[in-house]
Amino acid sequence: MEIKVEMTRNPKAKPDPDKLGFGNYFSDHMFIMDYTEGKGWHDPRIVPYGPISYEPSIMVFHYGQSIFEGLKAYRTDKGEVVLFRPDENMKRLNASCDRLCIPRIDEDFAIKALKQLINVDIDWVPSQEGTSLYIRPFIIATDPYLGVRPSYTYQFIIITGPVGAYYKEGINPVKIYVETNYVRAVIGGLGQAKASANYAASLKAQEVAKKKGYTQVLWLDGIEKKYVEEVGTMNVFFVIGDEVVTPALNGSILPGITRKSCIELLRHWGVKVSERRISMEEIYDANEKGQLREAFGTGTAAVISPIGELNWNDKKIVLNDGKIGELSQKLYDNLTGIQYTKVPDPFNWVTKV
Ligand SMILES: *Cc1c(COP(=O)(O)O)cnc(C)c1O
Repeated sequence: MEIKVEMTRNPKAKPDPDKLGFGNYFSDHMFIMDYTEGKGWHDPRIVPYGPISYEPSIMVFHYGQSIFEGLKAYRTDKGEVVLFRPDENMKRLNASCDRLCIPRIDEDFAIKALKQLINVDIDWVPSQEGTSLYIRPFIIATDPYLGVRPSYTYQFIIITGPVGAYYKEGINPVKIYVETNYVRAVIGGLGQAKASANYAASLKAQEVAKKKGYTQVLWLDGIEKKYVEEVGTMNVFFVIGDEVVTPALNGSILPGITRKSCIELLRHWGVKVSERRISMEEIYDANEKGQLREAFGTGTAAVISPIGELNWNDKKIVLNDGKIGELSQKLYDNLTGIQYTKVPDPFNWVTKV
């Protein structure tokens, strides 16, 4: 399929690279492709970024058939632009498609389209230390119809925008509230799909935690509320003695690409990593015994987010004196090093656009 390109006649001024923040600015162009039952995916195009008009009856507004991805393009010291494991994002997008009855996309074509879009907006990839171009592919159901069934039409859209360094003043460990009332997902639900609905489900607990002075929520399993699932919108790791533990992908946990990359790096370094069930009780016991060394979240936005404090049923514990742990720092340095091509990339994770 050939991708038609319509260039904008009104290129926007680039934002101040020191004041980017996250999710505030969008590049000049976007990619759109349509799906029609019987015809498949068609009409791929790169067009000026801007409003799209839909009928108020389209299905995504009512029944939430919406999935997305999140990845970044990085500008290297040599001025090149690279992506980190985009094949994994497109594979996961298709897994989300399957769960939400959305027709699959061609992964290789999607990567090709993404690279072409980035090349069109290459000047939007910032070069300031720690900045990147955030990429948001998503698919929505577009049938103007009010019955509950999978839509017969969809749009696959990719938008991008420059984002700032996540940690401007060094990495500060965050305070985490262990949520024992609300749950994010249950096994058999949408937890392992990157579905918009999971975010809608998470807002209330996040609001409660914020009011109590916490940055993020630690999610427990939806049935017994005993076992750890994720932290905020990140996967979670605990360093207990010489073992690194992360919850196994049980069906309600989102299979993060940063999670997978951390596991692969740790094993490459000869560190013991266990993907298994881990309860809050085990974590607090390990802390009592002085064996809980570090905990951190993993995700594309922050890469590594160290946990400085946990509050579970009003019992508070401080981890590693509230400072970033050794392994967290090493993972952060190596992952960001690979992403910006500053250190060797032993697994060929990085690809040029
Ligand atoms: C996207 C996401 C993650 C992190 O995935 P990465 O691929 O590492 O960015 C973790 N948990 C949830 C709920 C997510 O939506």
